[in-house]
Amino acid sequence: MADSNSYLIDDSNGDDDYNYILVDTGTGQSNATLFSQIREIGIEPEDIDLIVNTHCHFDHVGGNDFFPNAKIAIHKIDAVALRDPDSELTVSSLFGSIVRKHDVDIELEEGERIADFEIISTPGHTSGGISLYDGEILICGDTIFANGGVGRMDIGGNPNDMKASLMRLKELDVEYLLPGHGPWVNNGNQHIKMSCMMMGIR
Ligand SMILES: [Zn+2]
Ligand SMILES: [Zn+2]
Repeated sequence: MADSNSYLIDDSNGDDDYNYILVDTGTGQSNATLFSQIREIGIEPEDIDLIVNTHCHFDHVGGNDFFPNAKIAIHKIDAVALRDPDSELTVSSLFGSIVRKHDVDIELEEGERIADFEIISTPGHTSGGISLYDGEILICGDTIFANGGVGRMDIGGNPNDMKASLMRLKELDVEYLLPGHGPWVNNGNQHIKMSCMMMGIR
């Protein structure tokens, strides 16, 4: 099963409302593995108080269910799909499964902050896709991948949005690129450039 990557932001020393923020939760079908990984660093699933979904696809939101104390945050456009049990936009049928939890507590918009990260609107893979950027790290969902790759644009997104999002990401100074699938890498800017070239952006 093609779980997304999950990234944990430890903001327990910060002044914000949330201590442990999980970015994407996978399909939920491998939640035992995810649980054991967060327990390895001394955190219980109950300690996660905020989930940020980079977009509404099943492989990123299916695990939202398993964190009983977490509020769910997603961009306001993808929130519409996540709230609707009948929406095709979560593409859960591609995974032969259903999204069980449809709660959205926080609708995110461009420019808002989560811990040290700024929300950047990066549509293209879905209409409400977001990336999180802290000046060094870019968590980019399925917008782009390491070694030059862009997310599918036929399941809720479109190429024009994707191009515009890539132009934006190209302007950022990114050391660590943390994509929704595959490895995370350093020299993030180079990987963004490779992804841009795939879309004909120089
Ligand atoms: Zn994905
Ligand atoms: Zn996706």
